[in-house]
Amino acid sequence: MYSTGLRLFRLTRGWFAVSRRERLRRPDWLKVSLKTSQNFHEVNSLVSNHSLHTVCQEARCPNIYECWNQKTATFMILGDVCTRHCGFCSVRKGKPDPPDPDEPANTARAAEKMGLDYAVITSVDRDDLPDEGAGHFARTIDAIRSRLPDCKIEVLIPDFNGNQELLGIVLDARPEVLGHNVETVEALYRRVRPVASYSQSLAVLETSSRYRNEHAPELRTKTGIMVGLGETTDQLVATIKDIAATGCDILTIGQYLSPKRNALPVEKFYTPEEFDYLRDQALDNGIKHAESGPLVRSSYHAHNQFENSGS
Ligand code: SF4
Repeated sequence: MYSTGLRLFRLTRGWFAVSRRERLRRPDWLKVSLKTSQNFHEVNSLVSNHSLHTVCQEARCPNIYECWNQKTATFMILGDVCTRHCGFCSVRKGKPDPPDPDEPANTARAAEKMGLDYAVITSVDRDDLPDEGAGHFARTIDAIRSRLPDCKIEVLIPDFNGNQELLGIVLDARPEVLGHNVETVEALYRRVRPVASYSQSLAVLETSSRYRNEHAPELRTKTGIMVGLGETTDQLVATIKDIAATGCDILTIGQYLSPKRNALPVEKFYTPEEFDYLRDQALDNGIKHAESGPLVRSSYHAHNQFENSGS
């Protein structure tokens, strides 16, 4: 049981978080159109008819109207319950069901019906599975390839707890883009990604870049960070340098938006000019393509990011 003092502290902290969130009103550059088109409804039906999940819905992405109206979506495989408890994320946490063996085929079928020439696949963390979901990723890549041989595939994977063998299973399935998000600066890991480790995430990028150099010259390595969680500009620039040192090809930088009431609060809204500054830092440090803006997400305009990162 909490002591009265601790309970008061928790209450005070909760009140502070809410009042801060109320004080930080969303600036105009974060306003999005909520219009839906025929395409939007088609994507919605495909997703539900094939029992699929998308990170667009689960993460309450602000770009869902734009992306779905253009018939692009990011599939989230391995269920909709995550084994980790990151403070920025709105995906349900808990004990997930076993993976659906039909999901790779269903994902491929939905991708075919959407007429995708670029598919983005991500997942929840599955620390409960012996292979942490690596095999399921590979089967999903294979299933899409066999239906859509010309479709480019981007996977946004978990860190597999640093297990190189599991990372190798996904790399050997030969996606065009291997993405893994660093998400935030090292100093905020304990608060934002308590189960993950900054150096382990950088190691995923390093391994992917090495794999590209040794086996797959077409492969691109990609990562993303959120801003507005309380980091300093110096910490962001240091993070960009660390990412560049891994040989990563593509970096996305976007505004963190608190997705639900008990998620971490937004500490700051960055201006478009500040995003430009961060993009320039990435390019100056040798990252081939950097997308930086308030509504940028790792899967936002992913096909363009891939095209623009060619050497
Ligand atoms: S940016 Fe990505 S997650 Fe958001 S709606 Fe678009 S495809 Fe979905």
